[in-house]
Amino acid sequence: MTTALSDLIDSSAQGSLSLALICIDINEFREINLSSGFDVGDAVLAEVVYRLRGALRQGDLLFRIGDDEFAILLPSILHEDHAILAAHKISSSFEELIIVRDSEPMDVRASIGIALYPDTADSEGELLRQATIARYRAKSSKSPFELYKKVLTPGNMSPVEFARELRRAVSNNDLELYFQPKYDLSTRAITGVEALCRWTHATHGVISPAEFIPLAEETGIITSITSWALNSALRQCSEWRVNGKPVVVSVNLSAYDLDEGDFPELIQRTLRTWRVNPSQLMLEITETTMMQDQQRTIGILRRLSEIGVGLSIDDFGSGYSSLNYLQQMPVDDLKIEKDFVFKMERSESDIALVRTVIDLGHSYNLTVTAEGVETDTAEKLLVDMGCDFAQGQYFSPPVPADDLEKLLD
Ligand code: C2E
Ligand code: CA
Repeated sequence: MTTALSDLIDSSAQGSLSLALICIDINEFREINLSSGFDVGDAVLAEVVYRLRGALRQGDLLFRIGDDEFAILLPSILHEDHAILAAHKISSSFEELIIVRDSEPMDVRASIGIALYPDTADSEGELLRQATIARYRAKSSKSPFELYKKVLTPGNMSPVEFARELRRAVSNNDLELYFQPKYDLSTRAITGVEALCRWTHATHGVISPAEFIPLAEETGIITSITSWALNSALRQCSEWRVNGKPVVVSVNLSAYDLDEGDFPELIQRTLRTWRVNPSQLMLEITETTMMQDQQRTIGILRRLSEIGVGLSIDDFGSGYSSLNYLQQMPVDDLKIEKDFVFKMERSESDIALVRTVIDLGHSYNLTVTAEGVETDTAEKLLVDMGCDFAQGQYFSPPVPADDLEKLLD
């Protein structure tokens, strides 16, 4: 493969086209070999190669780079979407069960990582490294495929340095929670608050969670951030209740949290520590997270729901929900992705989209929250459409706990 790769890199360097490398790893192939024998393993590989070939276009190159690992080179692509489309085709080719000889039908799946030259990688070795990292990311996030994206860090910090500082910030309690109020659109009362974390760095100032959460997820620091956020949010919630200001607090979760040991037990323990009633806590889980490993997610969400905490689907509209699964998720609230709310003021079709989401939520007996409400026009449109709750700059940005207390007054 390396010769083909360096030839392609040479020719690609002369033009404006990109080159994509897709790395594919067959999940649990070793188990197939061990449980069904090497003959069956070989037959499965032959079927995989047949399916991969079927997903290729003319000119694409397929290589076997390990026992159960393959690489596909896509020369001359104009845009990353072409590589994403190819990865989508490859992952779909694994949807049909594989039947070899007398064995039971097997659900064989693959982890797929994509990297682009010269877009993110500047050499052959770097391209292979990035595609492999993306494949690991796909496997751990249980997505069908991942495109390698560089982690952006503030200043000139290297990702390793950034991770070290973030770890230190968590243990030194240098992170802080801000709270954004959520308003009932019919009464205009504050019914809840969303806890959003902030990191004030000694030299780089305030770093947004949008910058450090992805790195925290990649390095596993996210689980410490989540237990810190839960702890701080519930401590605050308990203090507000004692001060006669009961308010439901929402905490954001990441896909990795649900994979962590016994997550519902952590929730129960933290609620007990701060003597907070489960109905005072809402967990926000993004639509994309909910749709990964659906059966397992449904199981965890059912346990959380039995505990009595509220569950909200965050950033709804940004992923590809299966309505069938949505129906089985024991959720209470659906939060419309803020981009849809922004666009609503610009076009009728976006208004129709938001209306559809609100009606969909109500048809499943869920409350609907709009986030990113920045203007009174947006607020009026949402009231007209029967949206239940809203949050956004128009009402209040996320603020420190003391300021939120003044708003509650
Ligand atoms: P999110 O859950 O979608 O949170 C909403 C984001 O929209 C917040 O950004 C909030 O400050 C911002 N926002 C609120 N109203 C408006 C508005 O009217 N206009 C605009 N343009 N933006 C608005 P923030 O605080 O920077 O957080 C970004 C993301 O980081 C959050 O997105 C959430 O996914 C993640 N995050 C924040 N805190 C935590 C945490 O404790 N744990 C985890 N896992 N993720 C967190
Ligand atoms: Ca959220």
